[in-house]
Amino acid sequence: MQNLIRQLAADMVASRYAIVLTGAGVSTESGVPDFRGPKGIWTTNPQAEAQAYQRYERFLNDPKAYWEEMLGTVGTSSNFYQEMRKVEPNPGHYAIARLEHLGIVKQTITQNIDGLHEKAGTRNVMHYHGTVEKLRCLSCGSRFSVDDYSLEKLPPLCRCGRPLKYDVVHFKEPIPSDIMDAAESEAMKCDLMLICGTSAVVYPFAALPAIARNRGRSGVRIIEVNAEPTPLTHQGISDYLIQGKTGEVLPLVVDEVGRLMGWGRPNTQACTGLSPCPQFSESHRPDTAAEKRSSTLAANHPKAPGFGVSASPSSCLIGARASVRFRCPSGG
Ligand code: NAD
Repeated sequence: MQNLIRQLAADMVASRYAIVLTGAGVSTESGVPDFRGPKGIWTTNPQAEAQAYQRYERFLNDPKAYWEEMLGTVGTSSNFYQEMRKVEPNPGHYAIARLEHLGIVKQTITQNIDGLHEKAGTRNVMHYHGTVEKLRCLSCGSRFSVDDYSLEKLPPLCRCGRPLKYDVVHFKEPIPSDIMDAAESEAMKCDLMLICGTSAVVYPFAALPAIARNRGRSGVRIIEVNAEPTPLTHQGISDYLIQGKTGEVLPLVVDEVGRLMGWGRPNTQACTGLSPCPQFSESHRPDTAAEKRSSTLAANHPKAPGFGVSASPSSCLIGARASVRFRCPSGG
């Protein structure tokens, strides 16, 4: 594994525009269970999966009943989203934030709804499946901070008068087109895509690596860090998999990046990204980092199929090779 960690660090240092894709696996070490891992919510309770598939329809038919269920005042759903807001990032989240602060990672696109990337200090985060921190109006598309609503009178209403739902994209719900377009454009632009903690079976998110790969094998490096192989591994869409926990592997990658760039051993946990990190002050600011990076590239870096998924936000298509039924989301 050590060789692959070195390889990933070298690939990152050599990259011009690296992006990170994340899934529920990056947050399991923060205590948020994933869906399909060995201890996943659906693995241990298949009934929860069936309930998740009904949530979007419930909102459309009866917004008040949806909110009562989401807040745990009625039905079997506990106040899962409110609880999720209390969890803290783990070393994997901090490592991703650090790679952004170094000027290497330009964009993080997450399926997670837990807001932990921002809490760890990552600034450029795209929420492909929405976030528990926000409410969204399906009519006018406005988003609001959940803290701006007391949620005592249900359903909460938008300024346009329509009921608001959680920004979280539920199963069978279209991905908001602004996010979908922006994510695809990142997949077209990147020269390195690091995919962390996702089973890569939920579409259209899982199509982003194939979009990048279809631009040509030489144009982009695609690397997975995951506890187990995924369809991206089996189909050869990723160049290689580092099999392990993101909270353990990613800090080692940051260490190695630091070594390649000629810096001391960074302390991944101590850096929240919200205040200057002692290891990365002054000479380690992103601007300086970029300069230093380009000068160490040559020394440190050896050398530097898919299927159509409709870009339409209302399409519930799944690629021919997908192993899970519909398009998408987080259900929750
Ligand atoms: P998933 O549950 O389908 O797959 C998670 C993957 O991560 C599995 O392959 C698992 O083996 C791996 N994994 C688990 N812990 C890991 C670790 N510590 N290090 C590395 N790999 C690890 O999750 P998904 O692919 O993200 O898709 C499911 C959907 O679930 C997404 O739409 C997401 O929105 C939603 N979800 C989000 C959260 C969250 O916000 N934290 C939690 C549960 C589900």
